[in-house]
Amino acid sequence: MVFACADSRVCPSVVLNFQPGEAFTIRNIANMVPPYDQTKYAGVGSAIEYAVIHLKVENIVVIGHSRCGGIKALMSVKDEGTTSTEFIESWVKIGLPAREKVKAQHAALPFADRCTQCEKEAVNVSLQNLLTYPFVKEGLQKKTLKLIGGHYDFVKGSFETWEP
Ligand SMILES: [Zn+2]
Repeated sequence: MVFACADSRVCPSVVLNFQPGEAFTIRNIANMVPPYDQTKYAGVGSAIEYAVIHLKVENIVVIGHSRCGGIKALMSVKDEGTTSTEFIESWVKIGLPAREKVKAQHAALPFADRCTQCEKEAVNVSLQNLLTYPFVKEGLQKKTLKLIGGHYDFVKGSFETWEP
């Protein structure tokens, strides 16, 4: 199963050359996995449930990417919490723990570099959030499921992966 951004430059089937039938793919703004919440995130929750329980996927890969507008929006949310969008800011705020970590550890970096750090840290937040889904946790305990983080930089042409 692959989580990727909706950004047209980072289509995972093109980047990773997936063939039909190979990867169950969810794409959304900034490739976020929200925490388990039946009242707010049924779209994502049902996709994870289907992939893990019915398709029995062996890996869940969350792929962040360079120059992500969603992450830029997250890094640009006003500290006092006022929002100027109908949906975007409340969605990307799923990644707030990543933003806080970057602010604390990389305050001296230029904004664009802080965004790059946040693209990677937001993947880590999503990997953590996956653990809040009971069927994901169970798959990890039984070792039938593995989580992988990734970051695709289409400027440098690099693709890095890591395990949490
Ligand atoms: Zn993006």
